[in-house]
Amino acid sequence: VQGVTGKTIGVLGLGRSGLATVAALKDGGAHVIVWDDSPTAADTANGAGVDLRDLTKEGAFEGVDALITSPGIPHLYPEPHPAIEAALRVGVPVDNDIGLFFRSFATQDWDNFDTMPKVIAVTGSNGKSTTSALIHHILEEAGRPAQLAGNIGRGVLDLDPAHDGEVVVLELSSYQTELARALTPDVTVLTNLSPDHLDRHAGFGGYVAAKRRLFAEGGPDRAVVGVDEVEGRYFANQLTEGPGDDRVIRVSSGQKLDRAPWSVFARKGFLSEYRKGRQVASIDLRKIAGLPGAHNHQNACAAYAACRAIGLGPRVIETALHSFAGLPHRSQLIAEKNGVRFVNDSKATNVDSAAKALAAFDNIRWICGGLEKEGGLDALLPAPSVRKAYVIGREAAAFAMKLKGLDVEVCTDMATAVSRAAEDAQSGDTVLLAPAAASFDQYDSFEKRGDDFIAQVSGL
Ligand code: ADP
Repeated sequence: VQGVTGKTIGVLGLGRSGLATVAALKDGGAHVIVWDDSPTAADTANGAGVDLRDLTKEGAFEGVDALITSPGIPHLYPEPHPAIEAALRVGVPVDNDIGLFFRSFATQDWDNFDTMPKVIAVTGSNGKSTTSALIHHILEEAGRPAQLAGNIGRGVLDLDPAHDGEVVVLELSSYQTELARALTPDVTVLTNLSPDHLDRHAGFGGYVAAKRRLFAEGGPDRAVVGVDEVEGRYFANQLTEGPGDDRVIRVSSGQKLDRAPWSVFARKGFLSEYRKGRQVASIDLRKIAGLPGAHNHQNACAAYAACRAIGLGPRVIETALHSFAGLPHRSQLIAEKNGVRFVNDSKATNVDSAAKALAAFDNIRWICGGLEKEGGLDALLPAPSVRKAYVIGREAAAFAMKLKGLDVEVCTDMATAVSRAAEDAQSGDTVLLAPAAASFDQYDSFEKRGDDFIAQVSGL
């Protein structure tokens, strides 16, 4: 990190990104102090060779130049963490690792602009990780040096220094885009927008505003924007000067966008690219095993467009799409037994992603439930592809009650749900874990929940 020599910087939160921040700040010559509410914080600080200071205490920010916080810690809503509140009150700037990254990275070396490393930032409600990983995969297959960072891959401050011609693919959540004090990617990608994390943004308006910072005037050189929602259409509009301006590549799953200045869309399993009214490419997505379902076709379009935006050709992208294996816990085929497929989509933590999973398969034995998010479950219904729901979670009975019109069974734990679904399943059915809920009532993470599903399936 540049520009921190001799400064005193506070770091709040000692998780993965916090520890990477500590190391990067120390490398940059800063004096670092840390705080974390966890009882083991003192040991962690010790291990990292920095001083623990209770930043929630009166006067704690005396002599502190900035506070860097972690994405899991609320900085605004429902209410700021007391340490952030304290920093804000005395006027100490609050930032995050993404802001630090862009401030060090974007050195604005205009003479060497064409060969400078580029940053592609990927945001959206669903499909961020898949799209980021897919872009990274395509770049690697095309022989372009690339690094993957953010929520997936390494922490931004863990990256190796990027060399000329290299591309950094950065997955960004709404928490990160809301707070980062510098946010200057070369290409911005928005996959889609649907309500999520509303408690942290005081509603959908705040959530949209957090994403919108990536599309502000003077923003990216190029933007890839999913325009199936009105917010995406609006973001695209903000970056468009006139009818011939092709700074924005509009992406859709379903709509034919052949009139847009530049577009990539998926229809009936085919990806099409149009530029200035002429078709540039057409790719059959139906045979790509790592990208099942219309939602993954949307991700494929977004990744394809991002790679086009930095100058890769259609053919090399098409070849790379075919060798993408998909990510664990996202529409991941675990096993096929007696004609029954077992699919792990533990990452379907919200209603929209679960709805996409339900649309991607037929004859579903649906394992769902967990810690419910705001907004209810009605958007999932009537769920015609579902034969029966097997509900898990501490509040399984209440969750099941909300699945009106479906055949439901309250199973509570994963072992019961998997064995009951497997008993009922006939050849041609898909046993699908797509919870439409967070995992924290029963697991530490969605990964642990998915691993449990995999273990139960292999134990059948
Ligand atoms: P994110 O990083 O935004 O959470 P992931 O790629 O990890 O996105 O996918 C999250 C969940 O959403 C998974 O359940 C996945 O199957 C589903 N999903 C993936 N892509 C999309 C999409 N384009 N639209 C809706 N749901 C999606």
